[in-house]
Amino acid sequence: MSIINAVIEKVKQMDPDQREFHQAVIEVMETLEPTTTRHPDFVKSGIYERIVEPERAVIFRVPWADDKGNVQVNRGFRVQFNNAIGPFKGGIRFHPSVNLGIIKFLGFEQIFKNSLTTLAMGGAKGGSDFDPKGKSDFEIMRFCQAFMRELFRHVGPEIDVPAGDIGVGAREIGYMYGYYKKIRNEHTGVLTGKGLEYGGSLIRPEATGYGTVYFAAEMLATRGMDFKDKLVAVSGSGNVAQYAIEKVNELGGRVITICDSNATVVDQEGIDSEKCCYIMELKNIHRGRIKEYADKYNTVCFDGLNVWDTIRENGIKVDIALPCATQNELDGENAEALIKNGCMCVAEGANMPSTPEAIKIFRESNVLYGPGKAANAGGVATSGLEMCQNSMKLSWTREEVDNRLLMIMKNVHKTCLDAAEAYGKKGDYVTGANIAGFIKVAKAMHAFGVV
Ligand code: NDP
Repeated sequence: MSIINAVIEKVKQMDPDQREFHQAVIEVMETLEPTTTRHPDFVKSGIYERIVEPERAVIFRVPWADDKGNVQVNRGFRVQFNNAIGPFKGGIRFHPSVNLGIIKFLGFEQIFKNSLTTLAMGGAKGGSDFDPKGKSDFEIMRFCQAFMRELFRHVGPEIDVPAGDIGVGAREIGYMYGYYKKIRNEHTGVLTGKGLEYGGSLIRPEATGYGTVYFAAEMLATRGMDFKDKLVAVSGSGNVAQYAIEKVNELGGRVITICDSNATVVDQEGIDSEKCCYIMELKNIHRGRIKEYADKYNTVCFDGLNVWDTIRENGIKVDIALPCATQNELDGENAEALIKNGCMCVAEGANMPSTPEAIKIFRESNVLYGPGKAANAGGVATSGLEMCQNSMKLSWTREEVDNRLLMIMKNVHKTCLDAAEAYGKKGDYVTGANIAGFIKVAKAMHAFGVV
């Protein structure tokens, strides 16, 4: 059995219930096969076996009191996966679906993504099965404080620097940072995605969405194309989706879909900047449902369907697809339907939004397919820029950060293409992203010896 297959089998056997983690490991490992012959030293020093095992995983109780005075208990996680090239770094997710397998899949992906940005950041992820939906502001605050009451022991600006993810935005980062500052009595860059008034970076909220569109634009440019007048399908309506829409509008494309976990809205006239501002207010301030968009703008709304099912069932024409909601939202049938409906480019704003079947179909077709660990790396890259500004105790302008983000995304794109070509898979962004991300981390691990 090859070393790659042996590692995959062991991962499955050790944690048979961690389905999403297996999926992420298989997707990366299968593309690393050629590195085992080119780098026998990696095999000898057990890099492949070691990279799939987190440095440590902390699971903790998060007790808090709701508005009625009832005690609630959630489970908290922080998986510190790999710090070979820099301090652990990765977001925190609050969603009822969170479990150890989900956090491990996200932390594993983060290793390669962070490496691709060229910044010194290791991979980690954290979260809780807490459901922020329907909770009051005070409940959110008490939960965030309870979460940080344990997390503070494990993080620090040179140790592990968490950020936001699903269910964790500016409000939650504020509450967690405020509590960390209180109990540690220090004002330091322990979280990214902070408010501008207390150490945040301009463009961080925009970075993942903007970066995904920059990456897609780079992919399109390899075929002499751009966003102008293209029909764009975006899924989700949270942080990543909102700023992806804003950037697509700036580049002249027309976004025609958006969704949340209840419904999909199709707006053939396009979600212009005024409508995009409405979505930001609806989602970030009123915490409303996307159906309200359909009521306000009198557009079609498909209850219970996600964007990709809606496109498939209704034969909607799409040029570019930007999945920006959650893992495994786009399956093989959806991928086939997208291609049939004219889609030429898929850039993943979300982490692992395409199932293995969908990825296979995209890679075997003529579609430009940018996997999340490359296409959405702009978020963590700008978190890295926030860390730089915090340690230098200064703030860069909006233009400066945006320009650096654009340069980083261009560089990530080129790195993927170069690595793919060097390993005989010209144009394959999946292979390119995985190998380029892996090599740097593997070399660092090798240099340290067996630790
Ligand atoms: P948000 O919580 O801001 O938004 C998530 C959006 O996705 C919401 O609109 C949510 O709807 C929707 N959604 C969640 N689950 C489903 C589902 N099962 N079906 C349909 N819609 C769903 O999160 P983000 O925008 O920050 O994150 C989105 C994705 O991007 C995630 O995969 C995340 O890991 C990834 N990502 C985020 C980064 C960041 O900087 N924030 C960085 C890199 C990747 P609802 O409100 O109903 O739950």
